[in-house]
Amino acid sequence: MNNQETHLSLSNLSKNYGSVRAVNNLSLNITRGECLALLGPSGCGKSTILKLIAGLELPNTGQMVLANRDITKSSPETRNLGFVFQNYALFPHLSVGENVAFGLKARGKSKSVIDEKVNSSLELVQLKGLANRRIHELSGGQQQRVAIARALAIEPELLLLDEPLSNLDVALRTQTGQQLRELIKRLNISTIFVTHDQADAFALADRIALINEGQLQQVGNAMEIYFQPKNLFVASFIGHSNLLQARLVKAISEELAEYKISQELSLSAPKVENTGEVTLRIRPEAIEMLKDQQTNSLPAKILNVRFSGTTIHYYLRVQDIDLEVVRLTPQTPLDINFLNECWVKIPPNAITVFS
Ligand code: ADP
Ligand code: MG
Repeated sequence: MNNQETHLSLSNLSKNYGSVRAVNNLSLNITRGECLALLGPSGCGKSTILKLIAGLELPNTGQMVLANRDITKSSPETRNLGFVFQNYALFPHLSVGENVAFGLKARGKSKSVIDEKVNSSLELVQLKGLANRRIHELSGGQQQRVAIARALAIEPELLLLDEPLSNLDVALRTQTGQQLRELIKRLNISTIFVTHDQADAFALADRIALINEGQLQQVGNAMEIYFQPKNLFVASFIGHSNLLQARLVKAISEELAEYKISQELSLSAPKVENTGEVTLRIRPEAIEMLKDQQTNSLPAKILNVRFSGTTIHYYLRVQDIDLEVVRLTPQTPLDINFLNECWVKIPPNAITVFS
């Protein structure tokens, strides 16, 4: 199978609810077997995009092609997609097995086919033997897996998941997320899942599509989005820390320019065309911390230290500017933990400049 084969193609999709433009001219391709995350803040249009793909809403403009078939106006049943809703939408009066059988019955499958599919789907999500349970007798994590089994039972062309982890408590999230990714990859089923949580998107997805106000901001794998954010929205949604207003002072070389951040602090960073106000994003793990002064180092005060196991977060004041630095925890505690002052080096490649 060709790995790069486009499975679903969305072109110029828009959806309005009255005066609200929930989806705005969205174009996006999903490759066969790919797990794609739609990531963005609450209300940015993620669920609406899933509903458009599933046929639960119709777009105002645009086109959708699934496996070379135009599905823009086709009915939800004929699209053959598996949908897991944010609240799972299980039928409380039916047993686990009857829930999983639901789509198969609607498609008029025979009892033997249904029984076999229910069993194999429950086995996939590790709920074998629970077919006769009632929904309320299951934990939240088990209910989520029933919803996934129900979606998979019809052997869907595509799996659509709306915030699959958001109803689970923190302890369950990581494990459930890993199991979900493993299952998706084992079945090689093209999957689109919605999340507002950057960590879930990074952990589960092959590629991430960042959405804001109904518009696609950037699509790429986690590293591309982290290291090469296309705009300030992406940088602030992903990296959060060390976003600083600055002004370009002068070019230093072909590639670098000097930027004035404050009265006391200026830094070299990649040159941009813009000559006015810019925003600098400084990656917290790319700032070097030194015990002693070196060429190009700046003095810093250590305001606060937060130890989080594998990493240590330092909150520094460099001249008159506050910066967060993240370091890997060393094997033996460093003296630097007990210092009030240190030196930092901020290499130009730690900085992304937004016009
Ligand atoms: P998300 O899933 O990213 O939180 P939604 O797709 O649910 O966002 O919503 C996008 C925007 O569309 C929001 O402003 C929301 O209020 C609006 N919206 C969603 N569904 C409807 C609806 N059925 N009627 C009117 N407005 C809606
Ligand atoms: Mg939503």
